[in-house]
Amino acid sequence: MVRSPAVQPLDAELLTLVFVDNGGIARAKTVPAARAVYAATAGIGASTVFAVFDGLDVMGSAHGLEVPTGDMRLRADLEAAVSDGTWALVPADLVDTEGAPWPACSRAFARRMEEAAATRGLRLEMTFETEWIARRADGAPVHQQPAYGLEATRAAGDVLLGVVRRLQLLGIDVDQVHPEYAPGQLEVSVSRSGAVAAADRAVVVRDAIRTVGRELGLFTSLSPKVAPDALGNGTHLHISLWRDDRNLFAGGDGRRGMTAEGEQFLAGLLTALDALVAVGCASPVSYLRLGPGRWTAAYACWGLENREAPLRLIQGSSVLRAAGANVELKTVDASGNPYLVVGAVIAAGLEGLDRGLTLQAECEIDPATMSEGQRAVAGIAPLPVDLRAATSALRDSAVLRQAMGDVLHDALIAVRMREAGDAQGVADVDLCERYRFRY
Ligand code: GLU
Ligand code: MG
Repeated sequence: MVRSPAVQPLDAELLTLVFVDNGGIARAKTVPAARAVYAATAGIGASTVFAVFDGLDVMGSAHGLEVPTGDMRLRADLEAAVSDGTWALVPADLVDTEGAPWPACSRAFARRMEEAAATRGLRLEMTFETEWIARRADGAPVHQQPAYGLEATRAAGDVLLGVVRRLQLLGIDVDQVHPEYAPGQLEVSVSRSGAVAAADRAVVVRDAIRTVGRELGLFTSLSPKVAPDALGNGTHLHISLWRDDRNLFAGGDGRRGMTAEGEQFLAGLLTALDALVAVGCASPVSYLRLGPGRWTAAYACWGLENREAPLRLIQGSSVLRAAGANVELKTVDASGNPYLVVGAVIAAGLEGLDRGLTLQAECEIDPATMSEGQRAVAGIAPLPVDLRAATSALRDSAVLRQAMGDVLHDALIAVRMREAGDAQGVADVDLCERYRFRY
């Protein structure tokens, strides 16, 4: 085990500096380990166009970032590196040539939001669950159901074991692995951490899943929708909010045991939900995943243990409640840059606190079973139905513009709009194929 905090030099031959762009793609540059100190100080040069790269490697246009001139640096955060003993993955911060945070750096945005919470005496704990679909070399899914079945667990045993072993080697604690509902679909959850660290882990987990898949000769897809008739892959985000050692989603006298601040934070998430969808669901195929009856959410609401609500309050078993109560955000998939997701979630939640927002009534049933009139009375609106609609909510979000800053916000909108335009008129089946192995 060679997890690296403060290990100097890193136990690795190669260091891959990785950052995630606005299109949700993890981009990387690799240096020999002898360059570790250089990479952590001067940083490795890269073009500014990455701010406007989309999920298909095409450039959008914003703030002149698309021009071939200019330079930014990928600065290795060695303390956050993980290594398998040969090859280290090192989260990179994007800085300008003077070493200052680059305005379009999503990791810096996430860190700023984590600090904004800290100045209010608050702390976030977060973790992403990751779903994916894997097929053997002959095209057969790695399990043929029964969903969540013992037999499916055995059939996919080599994959599950491989992922757990690799994550353990990298120093990441696995909470659980299991076969999911669809043939070949699997899920892994890892332990929670602070927001930036949770996003770092999401990148490592996705890479571990693909790496193990490659070793086993599999086709691995984390795409939100591998085929129009397949069930989707989500990367739900679990969120808990803490003041000192107190979990603000439990032990309070508000609804379902939430504290007043917990309710306000959740109200902030609900208020900004449409814009958050654009952040967490970055690809056109993300919107083939969202919908009623699939536990992915179709209507903006919250509910205790409500798997059709995009914001599901999880109380957990009574003995664990104080430590474990959390809110699950379901409108996130592997196309969503995890740094942008955690940063935007914190920004939206803090806005709820700052404005003392009131949380709307809980939705205790499947909102799809309500009539339109009933939903209107309950204040439950449909979620954006496509990338364009979600992006227009993002554009209108003063909270996220303020939190991200103009450059990041505009670059993100440019990337989303370019990708939405590119998908215009393309059949779902072709879109699914286009994105199948992108994330
Ligand atoms: N596969 C579902 C999704 O796309 C989630 C199922 C679950 O609740 O774990 O989000
Ligand atoms: Mg799942």
